[in-house]
Amino acid sequence: MQKIPFVDLRQQYESIKTDIDNVMASVMLDTAFVGGSNNKYVTQFESQFADYLGVKQVVSCANGTDSIEILLEAMGVKAGDEVIVPALSWISTSEAVGRIGATPVFVDVCEDTLLIDTGKIEQKITSKTKVIIPVHLYGNAVDMETIMRIAKASGLKVIEDCAQSHGARYNGKLVGTFGDAASFSFYPGKNLGAYGDAGCITTDFSELANKCRMIANHGQIKKHDHVMEGRNSRMDGLHGAVLSVKLKRLDEWNTKRQNNAAYYDLILPAEKFRKPTINKGASHVYHLYVIRTEKRDDLKDYLGKKGIETAVHYPTALPFLKAYSHYGYKPYDFPVAYAETQKVLSIPMFPELTREQMDSVVTAIISFK
Ligand SMILES: *Cc1c(COP(=O)(O)O)cnc(C)c1O
Repeated sequence: MQKIPFVDLRQQYESIKTDIDNVMASVMLDTAFVGGSNNKYVTQFESQFADYLGVKQVVSCANGTDSIEILLEAMGVKAGDEVIVPALSWISTSEAVGRIGATPVFVDVCEDTLLIDTGKIEQKITSKTKVIIPVHLYGNAVDMETIMRIAKASGLKVIEDCAQSHGARYNGKLVGTFGDAASFSFYPGKNLGAYGDAGCITTDFSELANKCRMIANHGQIKKHDHVMEGRNSRMDGLHGAVLSVKLKRLDEWNTKRQNNAAYYDLILPAEKFRKPTINKGASHVYHLYVIRTEKRDDLKDYLGKKGIETAVHYPTALPFLKAYSHYGYKPYDFPVAYAETQKVLSIPMFPELTREQMDSVVTAIISFK
C-alpha cells in the first residue's frame, strides 16, 4: 500500500535542491546568519516579496504570530482595547491580541466558505474596538471591500492575516494589499514556506513599517541606539535565502494546487461530501482542501488505516478553546463555527500531488460506509 502524505516537503525540496543547496552554502560562507538591515539575504527577500505583492514595505520577522503581535503593538493597541477576529482560525490570530493585553472579540463564520461573516462584524464593534483582523482561511479570500468599508465607517484599522493565502486574490487584487497592513507566515508547510519558522509584515505606510522594524529588533534604529524596548524577532539569513528561491515558484505551485483542487472537485461525489466553496470574487490558492462530512472522525480513522494522511483545521473553534474558557462562550454564540468544526476534514493537498494519488484518496473516501 502506497502511503499518501498530507504534504510532501521532501519532494518539493528535491525539485529545487541545487538552488537551495547553493544558496544555503552562500549564507554560511558569508556567515549571514541573523536577520537585520545588514543581512543581504533577508533584505533581498523583503524587496522581492514587496515587488511580488506590489506593496511599499516588507518587514521580516521570526514567525507569523509575531508579525500580528508586532503590528498590533505598532498600531498602539493596548490593554482594554478590542480586536475583531473570526471564530475559526489558527490560535495565532487571537493569541497575538491577547498577548498584548487586548481582548479578542470573535465573529462567527459563514456556513459556505467558513470565512469571517462580514454581515456579523458591525454588531460587535464598540467604542473600544481598534482593529479588525480578517483571516484568508484555507487560501480562500475574504470580501475585503466590505471589510474596508466597515473599517472606514468606524475608524478602525485592518490587519489581513495572510498566513494561509500567499498569492490569493480578491476581485483580482492580491490579498495583503487591501488593509492597513498584512501578516504573513512562512512556516514550512504554508504555500510559501521557509525551512523553519519565519514571517513578515507588509504595508504601504513607511512610518508603521519603521516602527515594526524597530520593535522586531530590540527597539534599535541603528546598532546600540535603543529608542524603546523592543524584542528579538528577526528572520534568519537562511530563511531569507530559501524564501527568495521559493518565491519564484509560488505562482506555479499555486496553479498546481488549483488544478489539484479542480480535479478533487470533479471526482468527489457531491451528494456524500461537501466540497470547498470559493468565496464570490476570490481566487483560492488551496493551502488546504477541506471537505465536510457528518462522520468526520470515523472517516479520518478509516483513511488513516489505508495510509492516507489527513488533518483537521480546526477541531475546536477559537472561542471554545480552554484558553478562552473564562469568557464562558456557549455553542449558540458561534453556531456555525461550533457545528462546522465537527465536520471539517483536510485531505492531502500540495503542488506535487499526482492524479493517481488523488484517485486513491477519493476511491478510499467513496469506499467508506
Ligand atoms: C500559520 C498561521 C499563523 C501563524 O504563523 P506562525 O508562523 O506559525 O507563527 C497565523 N494565522 C494563521 C491563520 C495561520 O495559519
